[in-house]
Amino acid sequence: MNAKILVLPGDGIGPEVIAKSVAVLEKVAAKFGHNFSFEEALMGGIAIDKTGNPLPEETLRQAEQTDAILLGAVGGPKWDNPTAPVRPEQGLLGIRRHFGLFANLRPVKVYPVLAEHAPLRRELLEGVDMLFVRELTGGIYFGSRQEQGDGDSAYDTMLYSTDEVKRVADVAFRAAQGRRKKVTSIDKANVLAAMRLWRRTVVEVHEDYSDVALEHLLVDAATMHLLTRPSSFDVIVAGNMFGDILSDEASVLAGSLGMLPSASLRSDTFGLYEPIHGSAPDIAGQGKANPTGTILSAALLLRYSLQLEDEAQAVEQAVEQTLADGARTADIAPKSGSYISTDEFADTVLSHI
Ligand code: NAD
Repeated sequence: MNAKILVLPGDGIGPEVIAKSVAVLEKVAAKFGHNFSFEEALMGGIAIDKTGNPLPEETLRQAEQTDAILLGAVGGPKWDNPTAPVRPEQGLLGIRRHFGLFANLRPVKVYPVLAEHAPLRRELLEGVDMLFVRELTGGIYFGSRQEQGDGDSAYDTMLYSTDEVKRVADVAFRAAQGRRKKVTSIDKANVLAAMRLWRRTVVEVHEDYSDVALEHLLVDAATMHLLTRPSSFDVIVAGNMFGDILSDEASVLAGSLGMLPSASLRSDTFGLYEPIHGSAPDIAGQGKANPTGTILSAALLLRYSLQLEDEAQAVEQAVEQTLADGARTADIAPKSGSYISTDEFADTVLSHI
């Protein structure tokens, strides 16, 4: 297969981890007989420094001609002034909006060998393997908002249309069909009208997926169930705000932010893939970054944009084997144990593909 991939290294540890992810994709291409071409472009702080714009037109033009985007991370103390007219994260929001990427997928898997790094007891973490599907372009983060009077009151509106709920629910049910065939839908239908529409629509969409079990949870209960029975979840679908909060809560189960990938998708195969962590300026340039989240993001790119499931699994198994070998970057090393560099860790992953 031929595929064109746009690479946006970004800031901080972004370029360090993205280089490893590209090396993994190159190895996959060589091993499985594919032809992947990579183009690099500017986004985030580095783009502000070079062009004054966190998401230059040229980057969008290049992105439009590719099959998928692989992103490192953006931001850092140099640009972190909340009142600055342009900020690195505007690049992120801008690219999601430009491409209509309405579904954010975040798999959270606990590797048994890393259970000691998670805040829950080992027995609770056994078998934890869930996929968050968060609606990304609607809901309260995109509703109208205003401060009123002398700034002594303010409002934000949570608005969802049935079409917005349907398309993200479809993504969730389809994903569940390829997994353990269960969807948990999160809402607050007991209080919010927009969430009653959410639940009603998810129930309607479920009629087309009779092979998948559907469970509803109120968001407040979900925060507790995620900690008391995390292994019972398969696919979790939620609106923008609830998905934001719950997926962050669940991410601590994996033991380190550096472990987790994400995909932002729309109805066709185009997607944006990035680790969930930020630019980690505290460890940038020291060879300490864990490249796993970015390497697993490349696996998601293979799965969702290129539909190369065997290749995606080869990458995931290589990561699993690397951890089973005892390879550890600083963030996942035992407290007084030794650790290896980003390069050494990634070389071990490559050797297992
Ligand atoms: P962060 O995720 O960058 O770092 C939080 C902590 O986790 C740090 O101690 C860091 O060293 C550690 N960490 C993160 N990724 C790691 C990895 N791969 N390997 C090992 N350790 C890792 O979050 P932050 O410190 O709150 O933010 C730093 C900058 O990143 C800010 O400018 C923020 O705006 C930006 N940010 C960007 C994104 C993104 O690009 N999607 C997301 C979150 C934060």
